[in-house]
Amino acid sequence: MTKKLGLQTICTHVGEVKDEQFKGAVSPIYMSTSYQFEDVDVKRYPRYFNTPNQEFLSKKIAALEHAEAGMIFGSGMAAISTVLLAFLKTGDHIVVQNTLYGGTSNFIREEFPKYGIEFSFTDGYEVSDFEDKIQEHTKVIYIETPSNPLLTITDIKGVAALAKEKGLLSIIDNTFASPVNQNPIDFGIDIVLHSATKYLGGHSDILAGAVACSNEHMKIIWNVAKNLGGSLSDFMVWMLERSIKTLVLRVKAQNRNAKKLAKFLNSHSDIKNVYYPGLKSHPQYALAKSQMKGFGGMLSFELNDELDALSFQKALKLIKPSMSLAGVESTMLSPYKTSHGLLSQEERDRIGVTNGLMRFSVGIETKDDLIEDIEQAIKAVKKQAKVEA
Ligand code: PLP
Repeated sequence: MTKKLGLQTICTHVGEVKDEQFKGAVSPIYMSTSYQFEDVDVKRYPRYFNTPNQEFLSKKIAALEHAEAGMIFGSGMAAISTVLLAFLKTGDHIVVQNTLYGGTSNFIREEFPKYGIEFSFTDGYEVSDFEDKIQEHTKVIYIETPSNPLLTITDIKGVAALAKEKGLLSIIDNTFASPVNQNPIDFGIDIVLHSATKYLGGHSDILAGAVACSNEHMKIIWNVAKNLGGSLSDFMVWMLERSIKTLVLRVKAQNRNAKKLAKFLNSHSDIKNVYYPGLKSHPQYALAKSQMKGFGGMLSFELNDELDALSFQKALKLIKPSMSLAGVESTMLSPYKTSHGLLSQEERDRIGVTNGLMRFSVGIETKDDLIEDIEQAIKAVKKQAKVEA
């Protein structure tokens, strides 16, 4: 039934816990960690991911991602690590895209050797990059698109088809796009992951993760999830359900603002490059258009060499410097000084993270105020550079 509903109706109504007792307008929160047995097969327990709030919000996630089943986790990393450990064991191999969220990359590099799970990283600009890395013991291909921080696009349909052809499981981190802009299951991907801390939560006040896939795959994930114990408290589940009600409104406003800001930055004489899949100048614009319904709220740009990224970041008054992203408030960071600060200059240069690069998570503020903030910050940095010269 839910497939026939429009996206905004899904956000507003699917997965509500009905308040049968008082007929309140919103879901009640069930904080119980103990539930009386009615049927011995249904043992509700928060770590079993099946309290009323957990169970119902899972339905909303599934509906949003056009999947049979959904599950909510205590963080994006809890979802990612649980899913990967559910499908990989000693002696298996996974092919992973290079431009990956740092935490996922660390999890693979630091934890997999302990379990005897092998991995190969690849640039993944072409589907053949993934194919080249497939080995006899490969079980999974893992992608993330658009990527962080350079907004490169991976061919979802191509990777899903390759995985099917080779009998492998395909997994995507869909955090940057959100289910409003991209539904990978429609392109044949098996499992969709989210850091719900980002667009699903959207207000920078919830740490959560989400998974969407078939019932068959979810059974396997659940068996591992209950052992690892990465569930989300019912209060936070309730907060997330409340936040998702405005997901479409927020993300569409962010899409619009990001496109306008990308165009503004692209025509600015103090900006060298702009990376946004919604710009026709993006080398993978056609691919992005073929698999995204909106181009998202994330973009990156490179300041001209004479402008110092950190001074620019400090000069911003409205746009906050922050590591996290996807909130209703705009945030910006210099990957060179923060998220990619531990990499060597050589490694950063190799992946295109230059010293002047800024990653911009565009919020829902009035566009002209964001533009004005960037303009004044550029002027301030130029003035400072002149004084120092
Ligand atoms: N995936 C992406 C693309 C992310 O940006 C993040 C966090 O920044 C994660 C996964 C991890 O999510 P969490 O911080 O909720 O564990």
